[in-house]
Amino acid sequence: MAGDRLGNLLERLGSLLHATQRGAAGAHGLQRVHLDVLGYLLRCNRYSDTPTAVGEYLGLTKGTVSQSLRVLEARGLLTREPDVHDGRVVRLRLTRRGRGTATRERDHAWERLRRGTPAQQRATLELGLERLLRALQAATGYRTFGLCRSCRFLRRREGGFQCGLTGDALSAPETGKICREHEAA
Ligand code: SF4
Repeated sequence: MAGDRLGNLLERLGSLLHATQRGAAGAHGLQRVHLDVLGYLLRCNRYSDTPTAVGEYLGLTKGTVSQSLRVLEARGLLTREPDVHDGRVVRLRLTRRGRGTATRERDHAWERLRRGTPAQQRATLELGLERLLRALQAATGYRTFGLCRSCRFLRRREGGFQCGLTGDALSAPETGKICREHEAA
């Protein structure tokens, strides 16, 4: 069945990527989940850098998130800081080392995929997989965590952008980050 084939392919791709990421994490004395957390923090925006958002994005329990954050903090890869407006909220910040590790490992893993797939084919694949992901998220009620530039709240303003939800000004690079509050346009 076509559905089985798609499921099998996705499962195999997932296993392969996980195995690669496990190897990369092991080289740093870390587990795959630790690299996942660093990778998420590299890509998320300022509304999404909390332990809760990490758990939601990666589908992790509170306990696993806390444990992972403790390891990453002890290794000097991230810091926790109280939010400037609400001291009860903790913000996670990658240190320079954490950013370097996340960038290197992410580039390394995806570079192989990029090299193995022609641009046209990649664009078609991305579109198909994005639709599949959005359909699954809609069916399960999970947050989309999409790119800010594809959000229905994004407003274009003279000299930049604005988040229609928070009213905050956004820079162009920020519109390329993923967001916990994202809603598809
Ligand atoms: S416009 Fe949407 S994605 Fe961008 S910061 Fe606002 S809520 Fe998040």
